[in-house]
Amino acid sequence: MLAPGSTIGIVGGGQLGRMMALAAARLGYRCHIYDPHEEPCAAEVSADFTRGDYGDAEALKRFAEACDVVTYEFENLDARPLAGLGDKLRPGTASLEIAQDRAAEKRFIEGCGARVAPWRQIDSLDDVRAAFAELGGPILLKTRRYGYDGKGQAWVRSAEDAEAAWNAIGEQPAVAEKGMRFAAEFSIVIARGLDGETRAFPVPRNDHRDGILRRSTVPAGPDIEPLIAEATDFARSIVTGLNHVGVLTVEFFACGASAVVNEFAPRVHNSGHWTIEGAKTSQFEQHLRCILGLPLGDVSLVSAGATMDNLIGSDVDAWADYVAEAGAYLHLYGKGEARPGRKMGHVTRLK
Ligand code: AMP
Repeated sequence: MLAPGSTIGIVGGGQLGRMMALAAARLGYRCHIYDPHEEPCAAEVSADFTRGDYGDAEALKRFAEACDVVTYEFENLDARPLAGLGDKLRPGTASLEIAQDRAAEKRFIEGCGARVAPWRQIDSLDDVRAAFAELGGPILLKTRRYGYDGKGQAWVRSAEDAEAAWNAIGEQPAVAEKGMRFAAEFSIVIARGLDGETRAFPVPRNDHRDGILRRSTVPAGPDIEPLIAEATDFARSIVTGLNHVGVLTVEFFACGASAVVNEFAPRVHNSGHWTIEGAKTSQFEQHLRCILGLPLGDVSLVSAGATMDNLIGSDVDAWADYVAEAGAYLHLYGKGEARPGRKMGHVTRLK
């Protein structure tokens, strides 16, 4: 068990690292951010900051030597330079390596006994055509690596679209997934402690626009309720199968009576931001409890539920309205320029 006063290294200095550092400060821990950018928003609220490339093994080693434990808030990281950190890295590199390759991720999820959309591995235009025919289009191409928030994706709605879609994703190794007809999306945000205990938060229903999460609502609603037990079993198998330490988030489609896994992120997640005010322990504190070897916190709701709305791009211009609204909890990430599609903050309201 690492005592207050210990230093937590966080690889990645975005808003997830920032909210983790704020949770750490409340418990008396220090955070040290590692990020390649000049002024990452997490560094603003942390004790130390090292600017370095994610691929620089020497710099990462020196950074880790200055920390008591190291975690990550971002999964598009090269696992090789992190492998040298050994047990100090929580979660370990297995979670990272599997999550950042969509083909490996799907094989792993299936191996855990969980359900994914029918899919094929894609290495050529011929593979795209074959997948369209075999899966019975429409299909969605997703690059195996470096996709997020709907980036690196292209639909194939008819056989004639195959070439354009293959070009659109840069003719890179990919997966093709059958287009799923789902009533809703939801996620299981689950934590696994150093001793293997798991706890899942109440389940949010997630609404996306243009591939980006707009709103999470808890409870998820009566149509999702019957799927939660199975989905939680899937999430538990995944987090345990990875020997993961920390929070992990599994995203699902609600397809009739079936919960279908879309993907998982080996980290705290945007669909868990509501927990800061809405649950007795936030996802950020829970992640810290896991990696520090502390007992897991109570995940229950503090009220009847919550909604969390993302402030994306110019949405943030309305910040003064949220500050004036009774019962609205405004979070701004201190990111500067409000570019389109950029997550600038969020607002949570309790029910
Ligand atoms: P992802 O980057 O995999 O989370 O995908 C972004 C969004 O695209 C998801 O939240 C869904 O709304 C949609 N999507 C992803 N995969 C599929 C699929 N197989 N069928 C239908 N919609 C999908």
